[in-house]
Amino acid sequence: MTITENVKNVRAALDAAAVKAGREPREILLLAATKMNDAERVREAIEAGVDLCGENRVQEMLQKSAQGAYEGVPLHFIGHLQKNKVRQVVGLASLIHGVDSLALLEVISRESVKRGLVQDVLLEVNVASEPSKSGFTAEEIPAALEAASSFEGIFVRGLMTIPPKCQSPDENRPFFLAMRKLFVDNGRKKYDNVSMDFLSMGMSGDYAEAVACGANLVRVGTAIFGARNYDK
Ligand SMILES: *Cc1c(COP(=O)(O)O)cnc(C)c1O
Repeated sequence: MTITENVKNVRAALDAAAVKAGREPREILLLAATKMNDAERVREAIEAGVDLCGENRVQEMLQKSAQGAYEGVPLHFIGHLQKNKVRQVVGLASLIHGVDSLALLEVISRESVKRGLVQDVLLEVNVASEPSKSGFTAEEIPAALEAASSFEGIFVRGLMTIPPKCQSPDENRPFFLAMRKLFVDNGRKKYDNVSMDFLSMGMSGDYAEAVACGANLVRVGTAIFGARNYDK
């Protein structure tokens, strides 16, 4: 299977999941998780019609960005962002998905203000309260949004999560549904600088399930590019 064929297949599966859930297929954004794929492969995915690209590592993003890899679609940062790398990501990534602490939010805010821009971010939710994972717990989200609303240079556009690894897609259904509830409940409240536009969840193994549960942005790597070779 080529990247082009894979993108077509993923899109068809997303469309079907949306229709089955009574939603508009065009509401669902397909982000290509491009880590470890070179500029040429990224361009093929864009050509084939992905809506967005997402990178995990700052260095890789800078390098591929300089090569023009992402031309044509918005670039998101989906990895774990270290505070000392914020400077390199603010302004380059149109959306930073994994904001997992108020301390990180504060650093992003300071950098954005300095540069005279407003950075869109998603708050990361540790939806299963896994000790090994960063992110806000579901209970912490209202207070985090409240706090975020007072930071300058930040606009919170929604929530993201990486649920526990699982054997079958439906195992994560309770977590996806919990995310949807958090997204909807907090979307009803009015905070400054917060607009619940994106619910980012679902990866290669479970994107259809995530859409069935309310995701409107799925992050897909392997199902588009094939398995990543970590030995290279
Ligand atoms: C790599 C990655 C993905 C895509 O994972 P696949 O299982 O390859 O689809 C999605 N989200 C994040 C945060 C990632 O790092």
